[in-house]
Amino acid sequence: MLDIQKIRNDFPILNQEIYGKSLIYLDNGATTQKPNIVIDKINSFYYKFNSNIHRAVHYLSGKSTEEYEKARETVRKYLNAKSINEIIFTKGTTDAINLVAFSFGERFVERDDEILVCQTEHHSNIVPWQMLCERKSAKLKVIPVNDKSEIIFEEYEKLLTKKTKLVAIAHVSNAFGTVHPIKKITESAHKVGSYVLIDGAQGIQHIKTDVLDIGCDFYAFSGHKIYAETGIGVLYGKENLLEQMPPYQGGGDMIKTVSFRKTVYADLPLKFEAGTSNYVAAASLGEAMNYINSIGLENISKYETQLLKYAETQLSKIPNIKIIGTAKKKSSAISFLLKGIHHYDTGAILDKLGIAVRTGTHCAEPAMKQYGITGTVRASLSFYNTKEEIDALYRGLLRVVRMFS
Ligand code: PLP
Repeated sequence: MLDIQKIRNDFPILNQEIYGKSLIYLDNGATTQKPNIVIDKINSFYYKFNSNIHRAVHYLSGKSTEEYEKARETVRKYLNAKSINEIIFTKGTTDAINLVAFSFGERFVERDDEILVCQTEHHSNIVPWQMLCERKSAKLKVIPVNDKSEIIFEEYEKLLTKKTKLVAIAHVSNAFGTVHPIKKITESAHKVGSYVLIDGAQGIQHIKTDVLDIGCDFYAFSGHKIYAETGIGVLYGKENLLEQMPPYQGGGDMIKTVSFRKTVYADLPLKFEAGTSNYVAAASLGEAMNYINSIGLENISKYETQLLKYAETQLSKIPNIKIIGTAKKKSSAISFLLKGIHHYDTGAILDKLGIAVRTGTHCAEPAMKQYGITGTVRASLSFYNTKEEIDALYRGLLRVVRMFS
């Protein structure tokens, strides 16, 4: 059992009033709040260690570098990756996917090759592949989902051919919370010689992620969605693949030697980390992962699953509600519409009650099109949320229904 009150005390932002009402933060899919331990890490970095990494012999630079590389090792352990050479720090999920689309695309994708993405992907896991397909005259194909928003596995397998170069799919759909069977997806893709990228932006903070067990070739996520600072993310990539891929950007830190005749690139992981990385945010990510480890991700997952089930049960009682995305396996997000009421209006009224939810397409326009809707209201949960907060959401939604009836 988690001591939720104790956990909530770790997150100072939660303890405040909005419009005279206690804040109820249910927008964790967009970004998570930060525990004291992460805020303290950032502060102490600037109070004590700040200096650019990797570039100087002096004490502070050594200390900064040590913190940065310590965070890399923490991420490696968290993902169960084989080597720190497989952990590339990026700006976030979007940056990590663009890195692969550019660099992997440059090396491995040719005319008429195919990239598969799922119907419900976030734009970050669609647009970089479209851009790659345009550059290389390759084709983007779409894995369909059923009306519950689960991928139709037989259709997926039919799309897999010798031409498939990469399957790019979310661990968890940000729009509807579907947990995709990423291990099975990876196994099938590998049978036809395709590589697999998992967009872990909504998975890493909720579900134990073991990249060796999944077998995926790439796994991308953002620090700010896992209780760390913004401006940091991670690309996990299998070492032998990363070795074969050209650098994404050129500049300082990613080189061994530079001359006008020839530049020799740095070894992994620095080959992909051109320029000054957000080393303070990287340290905050390490600290956020330590925090999660201290609570136990299994405990977090269990609690969040119970809370989601409770939310589904409560919200189902609201007249004329339609929950969109009813997959068997879901994580932490509930998307819905109230009949005849625009999602924006619902969100705006909830806001005045101190309840923060997200409305709109959730950066997944093709997913909305599939349901013939312009958007949804999405409540996305974290382990610091409570049943009482779900009850407040339930009462808030009843109020919205009453106001519009
Ligand atoms: N992929 C998914 C599934 C997401 O939910 C998000 C953000 O909401 C992203 C990618 C993009 O993340 P970022 O903006 O941190 O790069």
